[in-house]
Amino acid sequence: MALHKNTSLIRFLLSEKRIIRLNPFRFHQIQPRFCKFVNMKEVVVSGIRPTGKLHLGNYFGALKNFLRLQQQFDSYFFIADYHSLTTHPTPGDLSASVKRVLAEYIALGLDPEQCTIYFQSDLPETAELYLFLNMNAYLGELERVTSFKEKARTQPNNINAGLLTYPVLMAADILLHRGIKVPVGKDQEQHLEMARTFANRFNRLYNNEYFPEPQAFSFEQNLVKVPGLTGTGKMSKSAGEADTIYLDEEASVLNKKIMRAVSDSGPSEPGAPKSVPVQNLFDLMGLVSATDTIQFFEDSHKAGNIRYGDFKKQLAADMEIFIAPLRDKIQTTLGDEKRLNEIAKFGAEKARASAQKTIREVREIIGFSNR
Ligand code: AMP
Repeated sequence: MALHKNTSLIRFLLSEKRIIRLNPFRFHQIQPRFCKFVNMKEVVVSGIRPTGKLHLGNYFGALKNFLRLQQQFDSYFFIADYHSLTTHPTPGDLSASVKRVLAEYIALGLDPEQCTIYFQSDLPETAELYLFLNMNAYLGELERVTSFKEKARTQPNNINAGLLTYPVLMAADILLHRGIKVPVGKDQEQHLEMARTFANRFNRLYNNEYFPEPQAFSFEQNLVKVPGLTGTGKMSKSAGEADTIYLDEEASVLNKKIMRAVSDSGPSEPGAPKSVPVQNLFDLMGLVSATDTIQFFEDSHKAGNIRYGDFKKQLAADMEIFIAPLRDKIQTTLGDEKRLNEIAKFGAEKARASAQKTIREVREIIGFSNR
């Protein structure tokens, strides 16, 4: 077994060495699974749409993982402003919304020296790769995507082609840097599956193992889904104010939102299962409260004597302890416009280098000449 592994590794290293000797700029051709043997870092890519302030779902589903990944991998984190046009075609002040997410990234701990932070629209190469991938994305498979069906239902007057091809644009974002690890929440699982389909299809079609297979990633055992406060599903920017806890939520608003969160009329008898809205509140408590606090309320629910007023008060207090430092940092970072502009410029340059390389190679693989 070990011998077999070593033999294929040696064969691989010999062939890669030949590539490197011939052309050092083709170092990227090393297959991701061999990165560790040649001291290269795997590539991480993820983004968030600038369609509103960031909330707890964005933090626990995505950003918390970004923070750890930036220390270990070659990481690209972008602000998905092209994507936002699928649902917000005429944004009031796109530039301010984009800067706000950038400020939130920085305030929460993304380090422009450790990772590459950029605006999606600063890389027109994204649009070019999107075009190429669109040529091999089929109507049937796109129409079956759950998020498309959901959006088509919620915005019946604007079922645009961008909405349909959202997974293709997402695949372009990832493949543009030949990303492997994609830190996202549970809601993105199906989109990642499609990104793998498009990467493999491209490789098969052009008979070239160029794109790696990107995988959804979380340091947690499973991908995270943070529920909203209204008991209807995942927390999201579009679900409305009452559903969402923002990362810079004012203490009094936070308290009001949690105290008004949907629960139920109490367990019908000891041992009765939790209703969905109550389970959601327990899930939120699981994110910010101490283990013994959670256990106390679990036990009192099981015993049938839980007092939801106390439960919510505790949740609001623990949430405030979590949010307060973030709120302060976000406010301070937002005020430093000059630094944010510098970070955006620096990030765009770094990201462009990677994107231009991929596009040049993709064009070559398809058969376009690069003049
Ligand atoms: P979006 O705000 O839709 O652009 O999502 C940005 C990132 O946050 C994606 O990785 C999502 O999966 C993640 N995310 C958004 N809402 C939630 C949620 N309620 N629970 C977990 N992850 C989420």
